[in-house]
Amino acid sequence: MKVENYQALKVLAMLLSGAMLSVASFVVTAADELVVYSARKEHLIKPLFDAYSEKTGVDIRYITDKAAPLLERLHAEGENSPADMLITVDAGNLWQAAEKGVLAPVKSDALEKNIPAYLRDADGHWFGLSVRARTIVYAPDRVKSGELTTYEGLADPKWQGRLCLRTSKKVYNQSLIAMMIAQHGEAKTEEIVRGWVANLATAPFSNDTRTMEAIAAGQCDVGIVNTYYYGRLMKKSPDTRLALFWPNQSDRGVHVNISGAGVTRYARHRDEAIKLIEWLSGSEAQGMFAGLNLEYPANPDVAPDAAVLAWGDFRQDRLNVSKAGELQADSVMLMDRAGYK
Ligand code: FE
Repeated sequence: MKVENYQALKVLAMLLSGAMLSVASFVVTAADELVVYSARKEHLIKPLFDAYSEKTGVDIRYITDKAAPLLERLHAEGENSPADMLITVDAGNLWQAAEKGVLAPVKSDALEKNIPAYLRDADGHWFGLSVRARTIVYAPDRVKSGELTTYEGLADPKWQGRLCLRTSKKVYNQSLIAMMIAQHGEAKTEEIVRGWVANLATAPFSNDTRTMEAIAAGQCDVGIVNTYYYGRLMKKSPDTRLALFWPNQSDRGVHVNISGAGVTRYARHRDEAIKLIEWLSGSEAQGMFAGLNLEYPANPDVAPDAAVLAWGDFRQDRLNVSKAGELQADSVMLMDRAGYK
C-alpha cells in the first residue's frame, strides 16, 4: 500500500481512538507492517517487497521520490515520521542522511557477515545492498583498449577534444572525485580534473545515457559512466558501438558506489526494518536486488546477473565508500575551481 493512504488512515485512527489511543500507538499496534521511503525506483523495489510480504506476511508500504526531498521530508517529520527505513542510492546520499540524524545505528551479525565493511557505515547507520561500478566507456572503432589505463590517464593531452562527461552536479561524479581526493589529496586531484576539463569535446551532459550516445555518435571517443546504464543501452540497442574498460587495475581499482538502506531514527517497527534489510542482504534477495538494475550484488557470495557477468571481472576500489560523503563538499568545491560544470 502506498503511504498516501496513510493520511486517511490517520484521520480514521484519530476518530476511533479518542483520548486513550494516540495516532502513534495505533500505528505501533500493527507489528506486521513496515513503512519505507525509497529513492530507488518502484520497479526496482516492488518485486522484492512483494516477495518478502508473501514470505513473511509483513505488509510493506512505501513512497518513492528523489533522495533530497525524501531526506528533507524525514528531517521535517522528525519523530512523527511514519518511515521505518530509508533506501537511497549513492554513499554520498546515505552519508548525508546519517549526518542529518535521520538514521539510527544498527548492530547486526547477519549484515556484518553479508555486506563487506567497505560497503557499509562503520557505525551501522546504512548498509550497501548493491554495487554500481563507475567506469570508462569508449568507442572501439576509434580507441584501442590498450590506450586506456586509469581515470587519471583521461587527463592526458592525447584525449584532447575526445572526452565526454556527465555534469559535476550529479552525486555520482561528486563521489568519484571525493574518492580521488581520498587517494591523491586535493592538489593532485584538481590537476587531474583540470586535465579532464581541457579534454572535453563538448559541455557535460545531463545523464550517463546521453554521454554514451555522444560517444557512439562520434562526438567524442571516451567517457565515464555507471555500468548499468551501459547495460540498459545495450539491451535496447545491441548494435551500439561501445565497450567498457576497467581502469586502475594495477592500483586502487574501479570506483564503486552503492545503493543501500538504513533504519530511521524514529522507526516504529525497528526490529522488522532490520529483518527486512537483513533479508535484502542475503542470498535469496541479493540476486534480484542487483539484477533488476543490472548492478553487482553487495554480498560477495552472490553471483551477478549473466548479462553483467559477461562484462568481465575487475578489481574494485575497497576504500570505504563513506569517504564519498565525508569529502563531498570538498569535491564540489574542487570541481567548481577546476571549471568542471
Ligand atoms: Fe543512476
